[in-house]
Amino acid sequence: MTDSRSNLLDFSPAGLEDYFVSLGEKPFRARQVMKWIYHRGVSDFGEMTDLARPLRARLDECAIVAGPQIVREQHAADGTRKWLLSLGGRNAVETVFIPEPRRGTLCVSSQVGCMLNCSFCSTATQGFSRNLSTAEIIGQVWLAAQALGHTSKRRRITNIVMMGMGEPLLNFEPVLGAIELMCDDLGFGMAGRRVTVSTAGLVPGIDRLRASAEVSLAVSLHAPEDELRNRLVPLNRKYPIAELLAACRRYVSGRRRTRITFEYTLIDGINDSPGCARALAKLLHTVPAKLNLIPFNPFPGTVYRRSSPEAIERFQQIVLGAGLVATVRRPRGEDIDAACGQLVGRVLDRTRRQQRHRRAVQAAAEGATMVAP
Ligand code: SAH
Repeated sequence: MTDSRSNLLDFSPAGLEDYFVSLGEKPFRARQVMKWIYHRGVSDFGEMTDLARPLRARLDECAIVAGPQIVREQHAADGTRKWLLSLGGRNAVETVFIPEPRRGTLCVSSQVGCMLNCSFCSTATQGFSRNLSTAEIIGQVWLAAQALGHTSKRRRITNIVMMGMGEPLLNFEPVLGAIELMCDDLGFGMAGRRVTVSTAGLVPGIDRLRASAEVSLAVSLHAPEDELRNRLVPLNRKYPIAELLAACRRYVSGRRRTRITFEYTLIDGINDSPGCARALAKLLHTVPAKLNLIPFNPFPGTVYRRSSPEAIERFQQIVLGAGLVATVRRPRGEDIDAACGQLVGRVLDRTRRQQRHRRAVQAAAEGATMVAP
């Protein structure tokens, strides 16, 4: 059974005005309704008391406000929280909240699964199912805000990163609609620099994003040269490093005080050598950059291992010594598989598929040496 009612979470601010006009209403009704939805977490039109009764009754018939369905919520020992959200059918995504002393970061997903097949990412093992709608993306923020008691006065979510499952720039329009709702004063009122889109390096998407929104950009680099990056991030064959960095320079040009965050997952014996660190530092001198080093997070079936603490320290010292801004991302929520690259929509019969995949990978890995697949 499909629901023919419009989900109001699907509309960008401008789209919601058009919607009310299409109902024969004044555009400002959209603003009233946005306040109820995003500032007060209200989904029942009956509670929207500044709307005339007939309009409330009409909305009851033709509209809904519905986020994804929460299947499971987990709390990690370090305060990290993770929600598994069902999107209907067999599709599910995960959303993670990471509290820190002075900020709270929400990591949201943009696709069910992913088609980019990065060899060190567990989301890749489940393949690609489908894109998320704007409602499903902003719905993650909306649900988390309610669960966390986030209000415009008591801001628990201070940053949003599109670093969950999927490649946001391959789902451009719905992601952009969600970004507009994150940043709109009548939505979540986030400053653009506190919203980060993370990409594996989709060059045309980076240019399009620059033209459409003023948000922070993170680029998953993971290797300082093409031959190695081709193996870790297959998309590199299409958009090699030189083209990617040129797009990064275009992204920041004319925007003051903007840096691109480069994510670099440190994998034992693969990309963590001093030579890699030196080459990376040299490369990133051509872009306003900050480097985020992510110790590899293992997942069942992977042949990769996390770099040793010594290798991580040595790598960081080399890039710092070369004048880069570089931080090491502390793994969070490991006890609930909430860390980078560990997100999967594990539900129902997907579990079987995962187990089969796991067994197949383990069999292939037996006796395998540490080389990138
Ligand atoms: N497709 C986008 C968004 C996903 S972000 C992108 O690639 O940027 C997820 C981040 O976690 C990326 O930087 C990714 O490279 C990193 N990551 C993926 N698997 C990981 C793993 N197993 N350990 C640590 N980081 C990982």
